[in-house]
Amino acid sequence: MEANKFYVLPKLPYEFTDLKPYISEEQLKIHYQKHHQAYVNGANAILEKLDKARKESTDLDMKATLKELSFNIGGNLLHSLFWGNLAPAGKGGGGKPTGVFGEAIDKEFGSFDRFKKEFTQAAVSVEGSGWATLTFCRRTKRPIIMQIEKHNMNVYPMFRILMVLDIFEHAYYIDYKNERAKFVEAFWSIVNWSEVNKRFEETTRAT
Ligand code: MN
Repeated sequence: MEANKFYVLPKLPYEFTDLKPYISEEQLKIHYQKHHQAYVNGANAILEKLDKARKESTDLDMKATLKELSFNIGGNLLHSLFWGNLAPAGKGGGGKPTGVFGEAIDKEFGSFDRFKKEFTQAAVSVEGSGWATLTFCRRTKRPIIMQIEKHNMNVYPMFRILMVLDIFEHAYYIDYKNERAKFVEAFWSIVNWSEVNKRFEETTRAT
């Protein structure tokens, strides 16, 4: 396998125990090592299948193959964003956004509390498995919440994703069982606002 042509699991920017008590070591480990790794492997397997079919001039079920590829690439990319979106509580995680991003949130939503409320509602109400994300629309220059189903549905094409929250049961079931709302509440204590702010500044600089 040529490494540069395939996806790799990114390194976690902290230790497995660093997000406690909001995310336990066991929960983080299984999420990262098993679930995220499975999307990396899944995406790569489909790319290899495409390579092989081209080489051997065989046909694939394109609809099924691309659907599966979209799910696995989405899973890998969103998880890669998610890990950087978190930081240990009190050591980069939690608090409120500041600077230009904080101002943009106030301008769009009226207040941070209103943003937090809307984002929480988007997260808690995901149908089945999915993500709550905050995006930025370069055309209107507005931050817009995007609720993704699975890893790839209801996506606004080309909108830059600024922050993400995983709402698959695999993200919280060990720690919170069926209590999704408690996991969403815990998320606010470990959001890495400086990373979100960095992504916002990169995005707005590029427009
Ligand atoms: Mn996940």
